[in-house]
Amino acid sequence: MRTTGIDQQSCFAEAFVKHNRLDNALFSAFSFDPCMLFGSRHEWWAERRKRRSPHEGIDICCFLDQAGRENSLPAGSKVPTAFVGKVIRIVEDYLGKSVFIEHDIYEHGYRLVTIYAHIVTEAELEPGVYVNEGDVIGRIADTLQRKSSSPPHLHLSAAWFAPGVSEEDLSWETISYQKDIKLIDPLKLIPNTIIKSGQ
Ligand SMILES: [Zn+2]
Repeated sequence: MRTTGIDQQSCFAEAFVKHNRLDNALFSAFSFDPCMLFGSRHEWWAERRKRRSPHEGIDICCFLDQAGRENSLPAGSKVPTAFVGKVIRIVEDYLGKSVFIEHDIYEHGYRLVTIYAHIVTEAELEPGVYVNEGDVIGRIADTLQRKSSSPPHLHLSAAWFAPGVSEEDLSWETISYQKDIKLIDPLKLIPNTIIKSGQ
């Protein structure tokens, strides 16, 4: 069924909790440093250097338990999809792979695409594969192996794609600068989030 807009919220957070058994850790909500959020101009790790371009999505790295304590997500955490859809592209990124999934969700003729970055995927996951909402598509990559100063995290982006965007050309460069791709704040898709103040 085709739906319009993203008023319907994703079960991403529930699926993430279930697949990673975070309910045992009394999960309360994902939590974010302001620099982990969409449009942030600075990195949130190490020296908090300026980013080359505004952050294209959100970085999911931490959650609060019901006592209000903050926990970090370990490398290897399972990553679910936000909505039913089809894998259209997989590219390497500096920490792992980025998986692009298109959905039957439209707004003004533009189609919703979600992107899951810095993950490790199984060989079976390739362009053309259909996924259900909440299906596991990979695991958060181990950043230590890449000698990166950033802790393991899932980068999640969401965007509206105009008709005719070429799947073969999709990359982090094209989605940031292409006129017919409009990045949006992925927090709109995911309830159950808390933003830490300060810093
Ligand atoms: Zn990011």
